[in-house]
Amino acid sequence: MPKSRLCGGGDDDEDDEDLEEEHVTKIYYCSRTHSQLAQFVHEVQKSPYGTSVQLVNLGSRQNLCINPEVTRLGNVQMMNDRCLEMQKNKHEKREKALASQTKRSRAVTTATCPFSGFENMAAMRDEVLVKVRDVEELLVLGRETNTCPYYSARMAIPAAQVVVLPYQSLLHASTRKASGIKLKDQIVIIDEAHNLMDTITNIHSTEISGAQLCRAHSQLSQYCERYRSRLKAKNLMYIKQILFVLEGLVRTLGGKMGQNPNTQSSTAGSELLTINDFLFKAEVDNINLFKVQKYFEKSMISRKLCGFTEKYGGTGVTTHTNCKKQENRRTEGLIRFLQTLQSKPQDEQEVAVENRPVMASPMMLVESFLFALTSANQDGRVVIQKQEYVSQSSLKFLLLNAAVHFSQILQESRAVIIAGGTMQPVADFKEQLLFSAGVNEERILEFSCGHVIPPENILPIILCTGPSGQQLEFTFQRRDSPQMMEETGRIISNLCNIVPGGVVCFFPSYDYEKKILGHWESTGVLQRLQTKKRIFQEPKKANQVEQVLSDYSKCIQHCCNTGGGQTGALLFSVVGGKMSEGINFSDDLGRCIVMVGMPYPNIKSPELQEKMAYLDKHMTPVGGKSPGRALVESLCMKAVNQSIGRAIRHRGDYASIVLCDHRYGRLGTLQKLPEWIRSSTRTHTTFGPAFASVRRFFQEKRQRV
Ligand code: SF4
Repeated sequence: MPKSRLCGGGDDDEDDEDLEEEHVTKIYYCSRTHSQLAQFVHEVQKSPYGTSVQLVNLGSRQNLCINPEVTRLGNVQMMNDRCLEMQKNKHEKREKALASQTKRSRAVTTATCPFSGFENMAAMRDEVLVKVRDVEELLVLGRETNTCPYYSARMAIPAAQVVVLPYQSLLHASTRKASGIKLKDQIVIIDEAHNLMDTITNIHSTEISGAQLCRAHSQLSQYCERYRSRLKAKNLMYIKQILFVLEGLVRTLGGKMGQNPNTQSSTAGSELLTINDFLFKAEVDNINLFKVQKYFEKSMISRKLCGFTEKYGGTGVTTHTNCKKQENRRTEGLIRFLQTLQSKPQDEQEVAVENRPVMASPMMLVESFLFALTSANQDGRVVIQKQEYVSQSSLKFLLLNAAVHFSQILQESRAVIIAGGTMQPVADFKEQLLFSAGVNEERILEFSCGHVIPPENILPIILCTGPSGQQLEFTFQRRDSPQMMEETGRIISNLCNIVPGGVVCFFPSYDYEKKILGHWESTGVLQRLQTKKRIFQEPKKANQVEQVLSDYSKCIQHCCNTGGGQTGALLFSVVGGKMSEGINFSDDLGRCIVMVGMPYPNIKSPELQEKMAYLDKHMTPVGGKSPGRALVESLCMKAVNQSIGRAIRHRGDYASIVLCDHRYGRLGTLQKLPEWIRSSTRTHTTFGPAFASVRRFFQEKRQRV
């Protein structure tokens, strides 16, 4: 059984194997979501290798834990903490049991997980390797045998030939180490990699709020007061340094430690700084953060604070400014905790404990933040985001160069396959992720193949003008004009007259969607559209997506089966929104995808500006364009490709794609469409022929059925 210790800045734990097992040559296959991983496992099961390959599917504790006491916590961080606490207790129990063989010792009463017995897990590891199973099947096996699937699966890694795992487990070095993943000379497949750079950046970016900083300070102060007499002078020094750093960080948010961050007001605004400038501003540039970081790792102080907080309930914000020994403060956390228990009715207490929205110790986040500061000096920035109150303000570490963290994977592995259905455009991808990580052009092999659907099943058109001859250019300056919005309404209305089933219309932003729908409402366009299609709109809340999709699909089914005035449904959505990724509009659900305008990212955002400036400084121009400008275009077209890729999901499927904006016809833009769409794309300078081609396309399909 692995023994646990704290990882260096990752948000997972870090366990080392007691025994170094030999790792057979294997394929690590990772993808973005658990359903994509499950799909891959099901394909392996159906393949000729389904009965012979040794495959293990890794997951998080959220997916694989079977201990109800832990799963009820819900929050992944709290589940990790609770499980690791129990693993620690188990090791201590074992050590004490050994000690008690030689001398009498106190009975150990701390809880351990009943599902983590070594013999059972070793048996389950062997069982896992005999048959290919997805996460659900692993859970069933774990419940049947009362054995932890999470650790059993990890134990199976060395002997497995294929390891299936989520992005985080592969792309984050600490998590990799924690899971026992060794990439040396192995083959890595990264699927659904169209957003790989963003994913790496997000995994390594950290955000921490003023409230969390104050809470971490408060907890550490209380910890320091309680154990002061038992702390070594050196450890006490590091604790004081961490408290000092926290005070500096809160100062950058306009706050002062010792005052309530919920009432301390601040002037709203944001500032973006290099790491050196940030440390200088926080007045902590004299602290050796590398040593502090080492102390975090060695002392496991973040995890100790979790245990301390759980024991004494010191999660509130106090007004300590130092850790002077004051007897009356030693038990402050405990007293406050008891007071809160007394002041609440029983039911409320239970709800509060079960639904605690914050992790047990925000010090974990502080540790991640400091780790980020020390690991990417030239390639990182800090965004200071000030809100009305210090508690709501935040510090965000921004990684500008994803290659810093990807290079280790490229160096260690034998081969890395980066795959995806909508990988275009790849030029900036190669420049920013591969060349920057030190890979030579000759080591990169590009392979692109056609889509499984025949070319006659797709009709992509670029529409340069609308039915009344209005040029379609949805720039910020022009798109709000009533003429442009009305022309767009006429296009959708015409399409709805001839397209069967579902039409999905993507707008470039929520703001624009609101504006144009408001205009259509007041001018009667929506009423006109409703005579042909029932109208649906992407919901505001993520938990309503499923319901809207279900209603949308039922409506289309009903219309297709019964006929009548309405021929299907029209769904309004936003590029990059809740329905532009991971949701499939196959068959009648998406017979036509309409893109209104080009979804360029907000070029005024300080984060994007900094990234553009960084690329312009460090990268060579791509196709005659500055790398910063190329990034903006690439982000736009990646978002477009994701959205239009929602339709045509299998060989027999067919759909038309209407790109409304003459700028799609520019050569550089056109080249950024996936090959299987680009090769069939026609640019229409007038609406008539475009409309006729869509009508013909669906007539032919109808005749063939
Ligand atoms: S050992 Fe396994 S079953 Fe037990 S708490 Fe941890 S993850 Fe859950």
